[in-house]
Parts: sequence; C-alpha cells; structure tokens
Amino acid sequence: MGHVKDFREIEQTYLPHQALLEASRCLFCHDAPCSNACPAGIDVAGFIRRLKSGNRAGAAQLIFQANVLGDTCSRVCPVETLCQEACSHTELLEPIQIGRLQRYAWEKGHSHLDVAPALTKTREMKVAAVGAGPAGLAAAAELTRLGYKVEVFEATSRAGGVLATGIPAYRLPRSVVEGEVDLIRRLGVKISYNQGFDGQLNPDALRAKGFRAIFLGTGLGQSVRAQIPGEDLKGVFWAKELLWAIKEDPGSHKDLCAKLGRRVAVIGGGNVAIDTACSLLRLGADRVEMVCLEGPQEMPAFPSEVRFAWDDGVEFHTRSKPLRILGEGGRVVGMEGVGIRWKKPGLFVPDNAVVIEGTEFQLRVDSLVEAIGQRPDETVAKIYGLETSPAGLVIVDSETGQTSNPSVFAGGDVVNGGATVVQAVAEGKRAARGIHRYLQENR
Ligand SMILES: Cc1cc2nc3c(=O)[nH]c(=O)nc-3n(C[C@H](O)[C@H](O)[C@H](O)COP(=O)(O)OP(=O)(O)OC[C@H]3O[C@@H](n4cnc5c(N)ncnc54)[C@H](O)[C@@H]3O)c2cc1C
Repeated sequence: MGHVKDFREIEQTYLPHQALLEASRCLFCHDAPCSNACPAGIDVAGFIRRLKSGNRAGAAQLIFQANVLGDTCSRVCPVETLCQEACSHTELLEPIQIGRLQRYAWEKGHSHLDVAPALTKTREMKVAAVGAGPAGLAAAAELTRLGYKVEVFEATSRAGGVLATGIPAYRLPRSVVEGEVDLIRRLGVKISYNQGFDGQLNPDALRAKGFRAIFLGTGLGQSVRAQIPGEDLKGVFWAKELLWAIKEDPGSHKDLCAKLGRRVAVIGGGNVAIDTACSLLRLGADRVEMVCLEGPQEMPAFPSEVRFAWDDGVEFHTRSKPLRILGEGGRVVGMEGVGIRWKKPGLFVPDNAVVIEGTEFQLRVDSLVEAIGQRPDETVAKIYGLETSPAGLVIVDSETGQTSNPSVFAGGDVVNGGATVVQAVAEGKRAARGIHRYLQENR
C-alpha cells in the first residue's frame, strides 16, 4: 500500500483569492452564532469582516486578543463541532470554512501585530502558573494583560504541552507553537523550564518567593493501561511516550522503526489512537490495525479524524475487545481479541461491553501501542492539598476556576479530564479572571 511516509504538514493555506471568496460568503449574522460557539471568545464574524475588506493585520489582531494560540487552534480545533457547526444552522448551504480562514488571517497578518499594547494598569502582585500547556499559557497571557507579573514554571524543556509533545507534526508543525510561545514571551510572560515539584514549585516555596496566587495547568501526565496479560513484553508501547519521541526527535525515527517492526496494533478509538496509527504509517510501518470497543460511528475520535485515518490506510477492528498480548521469547508476536456488543444501547464504556462468544480473533503484529487514555499525576493535587474527583481530576468552581485551596486556581485537562486546546485556553482565561477577582478582594 502506498502510505504517506513523512510528517510534512498536510493542510495548505488558502490563496488570497480563495480566502476572499470564502470571506465574501459570510452573512454576518446579527447574533454571530459562530463567535458564540468559540470557547475562547474569538470574534469570528469580526475577523472575517476585516479579511473581506483586506485588513489582514486587523483580523490577526482580533484573533490574538481572544486567543494567544489562535494559529494552533486554526489547525487543530474541531471546528465541525464548534464555530462551523453553528454556521451550518444559518441560511448558507455550506458553512464557512472558519478554521481555514483563521489560519489565513493569522499567516498573512500576524507579522504586523501590536503584541503588547501599553497596559492600562501595572500591578506589583506576582502570579505563578505551573505547566506551560495551552491552559497555563492562556492564563499567563491574560494575567499579564491585566497588569500582573507572571512566571510560568514548566517541568520539561519545551513550552506548549501536548502541542509541543503530542500532536503530530503533519497536523501541527513545531514552528507554529514556537512562534506563538515567542509572542507570549514578548507579551511579558516569563517562562522557566525544567522545573519540578522537588525544587521551587511546591506551594510554600512559591509563596516565599512572593507569588500571591497559583494557576495549575498540569494536564494529564500518566498513561492509562489496558491491564491485559502481556503488557510487560518487549514491543509494548504507550501512545503518549511514543508520540513524544516521534515529535521530539525526528533523527530517531529510524531507530524507532526498528523497535516497532512492520506490523503494529493500536488499542483505542480516540483522537490519540488515530494520531498514533497515522504516525506509525508515516514512520514506515506496513500495516497498522486499530482495535477499539466502539463501532465506527461510536468512536470518541472526531469523525473527520476517523475518515482521515481510513484514507491513510489504517485498518479498523471495531466493537472489539483486546484480551491478551501474545509473546515469544519475551517479545510481542501478536494479540488476541474478541467481538463485543453493548448491554445497554448508547453507553460506550468498557463496563457495558458484553463479549460475544465464538468471535475470538488473533492479529499477528510485531508491536502494540496502547492509546486508551491518560489521567492526571495525582501528586500535583496532593502537594497543593486540593480536592479531587474519584478520577483524580482537580475540582474547581465553574465560574472562577478556584480550587478548594483559595489561592490556587486550575484549568485545562487536569480539570476537565481531557478535552480540546481551545477548551484549555478558555479555562485558563476563566481562571485568570478568577485570580484577578481574588487578588483584588485580598490585597
Ligand atoms: C495526541 C493528542 C492529540 C490531540 N489532538 C487534539 C486536537 O487535534 N485538537 C484539540 O483541540 N485537542 C487535541 N488534543 C487535546 C489537547 O491537546 C489538550 O486538551 C490540551 O493540550 C490540554 O492543555 P493543558 O494545558 O490542560 O495540558 P497539557 O497540554 O498537557 O500541558 C500541561 C503542561 O504542564 C506541564 N507539567 C505537568 N506537570 C508539571 C509539573 N509538576 N510542574 C511543571 N509543569 C508540569 C507539562 O509538561 C505540560 O507542558 C490532543 C491531545 C493529545 C494527547
């Protein structure tokens, strides 16, 4: 099969006449359902109006004002469930391609941005953000714009969180994230790298350094395991670590290929599983088979992603439950699974799956990647003494992002359990406003 074998970005930007034509289709609805559907609050109709009149810098400025990761979001937002979905309820036969227009506006207009317009007020109070993912960066940018001195502490050597270490380069090139992080720095946000809890990140140390409030945006650091026999065999990988290795070091791709072999199974039916499967094909695997509990219409991955993987050549074993990983001489040689049906219709969770006897099957594979989810590193909540849900997620006030510790706020995946980049941005901004209110009330 002629699979794509490289990680070059797939989507291309509009040409100027295409962008103008697309912007000209906009009805500029009086209630702007597209803008209302954007969790980050981008004035979609506003930037399209500016594009239409040729004001590309003004369009980029509007995007940046609402979302400091607007370039990333133009590439990875599930627009078909957000702004474009809202647009499909208008009188247009086809919704406006908002993601593509946003990308065009950014690419053509951002070099003229007024990144850090003069602040109306500067404040002496310092705020720390722990984690430089979308939530932490958005919170830090918003607080800086409100006049606070903000420092972001990041555990790794890169800012961007999953954008830098997870989403494959064929969907989100690293240069996009680096460009945005650079703008956030120019806005006035300080980012410190390779910071761990053992050092200056524990709450007492941060307070001693004069930080009056803390934002936690530490995401989901731990991979969930399928807990099936054979997980200790050589040739079993976890999606988060594998995607990180692929994005971090393109020079290591040859070695990775050798470790993975020609045929790989991926367990899971979400976006991470799809990214893993499509990345494996690009790395050079001959055959990648996804095994998931859900049927094709039930998978948690965005429908567009499932279609993409299908077109890429990924093979699907849906409504299938992995039973065990098969090994010989300590190495993976295959996996065994079985067909399932749902006990209660419409409830697509493992506990609701009933095995259909007689449908057992085996796949011959050289390696297997588990991509069935991630959960938070619970030491974070423990160190800060925060209330958590049974799943270990930090519980916050839905209006302000405040945790059970009044000077600690949180947002993003560590709170919502894993959603989208734009949702993490929205929750970072929400917490920034919560912190502002808290600090004004507790001077
Ligand atoms: C493979 C993959 C593909 C995805 N694709 C999409 C997509 O196409 N579209 C979309 O909208 N969403 C996608 N998502 C989801 C999206 O990336 C996340 O919802 C978003 O990144 C969450 O942002 P966050 O800031 O909460 O966490 P993260 O992005 O996880 O960032 C957390 C940051 O905190 C740091 N950190 C953790 N612990 C500590 C600590 N103790 N001290 C200091 N720093 C710490 C981490 O190193 C990291 O930099 C995808 C997720 C994955 C895994």
